[in-house]
Amino acid sequence: MASKRSRRHEADSFTCIHCGQYVDARSYGTRHRNHCPYCLWSRHVDESPGDRRSACGAKMQPIGIETKDDGEWSIIHRCTGCGVIKVNRIAGDDRELALLQLVLKPLSNPPFPLDHLPV
Ligand SMILES: [Zn+2]
Ligand SMILES: [Zn+2]
Repeated sequence: MASKRSRRHEADSFTCIHCGQYVDARSYGTRHRNHCPYCLWSRHVDESPGDRRSACGAKMQPIGIETKDDGEWSIIHRCTGCGVIKVNRIAGDDRELALLQLVLKPLSNPPFPLDHLPV
């Protein structure tokens, strides 16, 4: 797949629209800080990563984690405004607890009784 590298943009620091924490643009492991490392919520500002072209601007809820075979995690975000789904790599300073909460959430409320599973 031909994926053109988007030009480097100066990432802006921002205040999280979900939890209100001030988020420094600098982060480990990602060039584009696209979600809050505290609550993992994002904002729909990009069409492609880092381009800041979307006019939507609504909050994007973290709804799950995608894992790759090499162990890399990405957060699946769904826009609360237009419903688009985006996958964003986690950053090195995302809160581990927030990531784990995202992973464990469905397990904490299964749609079937766990004690009837065959072992
Ligand atoms: Zn936040
Ligand atoms: Zn949107």
